[in-house]
Amino acid sequence: MRYEGALYRPPSEAYSLIVQATIGCSHNKCTFCSMYKDKKFRIRDTEEIIEDFKIGRERYKVVKRIFIADGDALTIKTAELKKILTFIRENFPECERVGIYGSPKAILSKTLDELKELKSLGLGIVYLGIESGSEKILKMINKGVSRDEMVEAGKRVVESGIKLSVTLISGIGGKEHSLEHAKESAKIINEINPHYLGLLTLIVEEGTPLYEDIQKGKFQLLSPREILLETREMVMDLEVDNCIFRSNHASNYVPLRGTLPQDKDLILLQIQEGLEISNLEDRDRFRRL
Ligand code: SF4
Repeated sequence: MRYEGALYRPPSEAYSLIVQATIGCSHNKCTFCSMYKDKKFRIRDTEEIIEDFKIGRERYKVVKRIFIADGDALTIKTAELKKILTFIRENFPECERVGIYGSPKAILSKTLDELKELKSLGLGIVYLGIESGSEKILKMINKGVSRDEMVEAGKRVVESGIKLSVTLISGIGGKEHSLEHAKESAKIINEINPHYLGLLTLIVEEGTPLYEDIQKGKFQLLSPREILLETREMVMDLEVDNCIFRSNHASNYVPLRGTLPQDKDLILLQIQEGLEISNLEDRDRFRRL
């Protein structure tokens, strides 16, 4: 396949055919994110995108899942997305799910009817990075939307019938705002009630504004124990309906998984077991900052 620069995809799209419909991220200003810093955002021509799908069709006999990258491909005009989805539908009849990254602004740029139309053409899942439910933290990290806009965006996807997978970042409020992050994040998830909730742990790359803040002592990273305590605080407040919870990304100190609400006690037990790991605070164990 023809890829430009580093390619990112959600863990659940590991075996998907991935085509870049956009290059980079239309926002590209979050203080913790280094993913697309080397790319100037642009939307590729629909013809070019379809060419890539043709290459994929020739190369792979069976394609069960397709992921439309890069950072914010949902920002593409609905008419063009419809052409892409129609091509997929006609040429990959065996495909069971098409996924896409959607920033809150991109979601809000689509009406509910437009999202429903995209669903009817096969868009199966939108991945939305919420990061935190706290208004203060969303501002701090320069997410570009308010908490209320984030709620509206998330709810609109759910209402359209497209599956919504959201991520939060443990430790994104630093030591100072850890409790607020836990409480407000649980609240926003309860309001949106996504189908999937992924919890990553903050990893700060050199060159990002947040890295600079850490160097200047303006932001204190949480220890593994503090991350787990923050997670426990958040999970205790979660009141969602049939939400698949995963915190088993490579960034996480202790793997957690379950379906909420029924597995809440199990997840809390997994956290408790994590807190009892004798060398939990040994960061070298995790080979990172
Ligand atoms: S919206 Fe997502 S990809 Fe874009 S800068 Fe923020 S975290 Fe990174």
